[in-house]
Amino acid sequence: MSDHRYYIVTDEAGAGRALDLLSGVFEEEGVPIATMETDEARGLWEASAYGSGEPDAELRDRMARCLAKDFPGVEIKLEIFGETDWIAKSLDGLKPVRAGRFLVHGAHDRGAVRPNDLAIELEAGQAFGTGHHGTTAGCLEMIAKVMRAVPGGRKIGPVLDLGTGSGVLAIAAAKLGPVRVLATDIDPIATRVARENVRANHMAARITCVTAQGFHSTAFSREGPFGLIIANILARPLMRMAPDIRRNIAPGGSVILSGILASQRRQVLAAYSGQHLRHVETLWRNGWVTIHLK
Ligand code: SAH
Repeated sequence: MSDHRYYIVTDEAGAGRALDLLSGVFEEEGVPIATMETDEARGLWEASAYGSGEPDAELRDRMARCLAKDFPGVEIKLEIFGETDWIAKSLDGLKPVRAGRFLVHGAHDRGAVRPNDLAIELEAGQAFGTGHHGTTAGCLEMIAKVMRAVPGGRKIGPVLDLGTGSGVLAIAAAKLGPVRVLATDIDPIATRVARENVRANHMAARITCVTAQGFHSTAFSREGPFGLIIANILARPLMRMAPDIRRNIAPGGSVILSGILASQRRQVLAAYSGQHLRHVETLWRNGWVTIHLK
């Protein structure tokens, strides 16, 4: 897992330019580069280079040199990720987010829901997954695509949301079709938050929330095998879990993976093709990718 990142704050065009420059210098070495929108209202973006372990002054200096010409005087900032890098964000003050037909919103924005929206209301903020992150938005869109392709949703069989965070993707799947969903997370706080959000969205009868590290729980054999497995974690744990994911998928089932930087996509695809899961489609969002495999 990447343990820190150096980044600059810029606008959308600047993020695109920085992505090109940084990718040109660092891509070959496998240093993950990503851009993300951090403040839609003010048009703020960040472009980052990720490093592992202790902050690395050399990475910082090389980044500064690479950006100096196009971004004179720009400040290179540092963020260090703690043990758990999963962003704890309150939904208060966050705007509702649209991803395909979904509208993810807090209770204070119920008024924003339009008649054809699939609305997901999230209150508790101590878990990742508000829909504002490119990986969550990518997963929401991909789940809709995959489940729409199955008439009635029912035939897709049970769904697994591994690393459920706020429960947003589990709730989305349950809203799209009459499926049972197992939602798991390594973090008991996330599981509790997910359970509260599931209840607030009236989905408690169909979604079971369980605390588990990876596939270490009897819940998987009880509820599976799964017609669809969704896992928005990070590239490295996803590559490690490829054999477990393969074992828990029903014949003909689908896998949606995210939390993967664009520069890590090929490696992840290779790990899964080793498990005979082939690539169907990739969605690209702010430097992150969401992948559908079958
Ligand atoms: N599904 C949500 C949250 C993604 S954040 C969304 O798409 O927005 C990733 C979540 O995975 C975090 O809540 C983290 O606690 C959990 N996680 C990380 N490693 C895990 C593992 N090995 N097993 C289960 N959950 C894990």
